[in-house]
Amino acid sequence: MRKLIRGAKVLTQDPKQPVIIDGAILVENDRIVEVDTYEALRKSPGIEQELGDGDTWVIPGFVNAHYHHDRVFSMGGVDCPLELWLLRASGLDSPPPDVEDEFNYLVTLVSAIQLVRSGVTLTMDMAWPNNHRPVIQAYLDLGLDLVYAPTLRSQNGYVYEADEKFLATLPNELRQRVVGQGLGLTGVYRPAGPYFETWTELKSEFGNRIQLAIAPDGPEWCSETELRQTTQRSEKEGACVHLHNSESPLEREWALQTRNQTMTEYLAEIGFLRPGISCGHGVWYGENDVELLVAHEVVTVHCPASNLRLGNGIAPVAAYLEAGMTIALGTDGEGLTDRSNFLDEMRLAAYLQRIPSAIFPSRNPWTRGLTAQTVFEMATVNGAKSFRKEKLGRLQPGYRADMVLVNAKRMSMPYLWPGHAPYSAVLQKAEPDHIDAVISRGRVLLDKGRIVTVDEEIITRKLQMLFEHIWKNGDEQRKTLIRELEPFLFQFFKPWQEEPTCFVLPARW
Ligand SMILES: [Zn+2]
Repeated sequence: MRKLIRGAKVLTQDPKQPVIIDGAILVENDRIVEVDTYEALRKSPGIEQELGDGDTWVIPGFVNAHYHHDRVFSMGGVDCPLELWLLRASGLDSPPPDVEDEFNYLVTLVSAIQLVRSGVTLTMDMAWPNNHRPVIQAYLDLGLDLVYAPTLRSQNGYVYEADEKFLATLPNELRQRVVGQGLGLTGVYRPAGPYFETWTELKSEFGNRIQLAIAPDGPEWCSETELRQTTQRSEKEGACVHLHNSESPLEREWALQTRNQTMTEYLAEIGFLRPGISCGHGVWYGENDVELLVAHEVVTVHCPASNLRLGNGIAPVAAYLEAGMTIALGTDGEGLTDRSNFLDEMRLAAYLQRIPSAIFPSRNPWTRGLTAQTVFEMATVNGAKSFRKEKLGRLQPGYRADMVLVNAKRMSMPYLWPGHAPYSAVLQKAEPDHIDAVISRGRVLLDKGRIVTVDEEIITRKLQMLFEHIWKNGDEQRKTLIRELEPFLFQFFKPWQEEPTCFVLPARW
């Protein structure tokens, strides 16, 4: 099927011709066939559908390269440092087994719809459900392209040390209650054996419709054997690998003091780093880490809002880019406003790099900061590179037909300065309400501001009703136990919290 997408401005992300005035894109099935002026393409044979008009700006669809669908659960919750947040997250109410699949399906859909509404046409999802199928099915029904990354995790459920070591710090009575509850993140343990079995099943069932990635949660949450198995398996399957790395200052300090190396150095030492790997966060890389990651062509997925909300700080990504690293963008589980608004994430990524040299000591401060086009590159092409997707992220012939139609009239309200730059205008002003249509793999998911593939209203209402049911039967005992555990968590991390070195960036960065 052929479609013609028209735009008063087409922001192609093509370095040779970044903007086409009164342009059009000819799409056949899931590919872009031609990009030219509207006048040149409007009479092309076989066009069955035309979208966009003189008020439309067309931009490439965004790639959300680090994401967890299930954080919808904690909307309106209290932000806190990552290590405490991880413990508290384990105390969140979970759905009873009889509605678990339905719940996971609805939660995934509701979160994914928010992504689509902010222009995302491909997302990865790093997920831990007991049953992965309802989650994948939600993306298939919505039509949002997916890199699905079931998560491998088998150790250090409470802190960055063995569970027994942490449990030994608790008074006897509390320890017994905690062990009895299976509390902490131990509930999501997925050791390598059953993990790879499930992974293979999912690949044979869904592998022709979505991309499957292997996702060890992070080097602190998997054994060395499991990380080595990941490498072997990814080579055998030709699968991309995604993991958390260098997210929090505490994690960095713990690694330096207990292992005498950063986790990135550890990953390099065991031969884990290679092309086809992407790391979420990367806030606390040292100079050597950056060199190792660049040398092994590892992509970093910047999650600026999550990094701020969970107290992890600001990743100096302008410096990373300057060092030759590929940087993509992700909402993680915690977007800036609990709405998984990818446009917010892009803005924040741009503005955070404008903090002066007190934080990013620079040889030349004028080279720092990110241009709007660089942020677009991170949000599109670099996201695609995270998962080795080629011909995705630009509006050029041969590229995947992933694009977003922005209503420039609404976006421009009350006006746009006549000297505006189109990429900057979108970066600074666009909101989900301005997006008229979203096309992923040539398929229209959102048209005239409405999701067309699923019934958003019914889905949202069903999820609200399920939440009411879950919250009415909340596990108060479990929550009380989490609160009792918190002081022991603080105590455990105290030696590393008081070390100031983790707040000093290496001079070069
Ligand atoms: Zn994450």
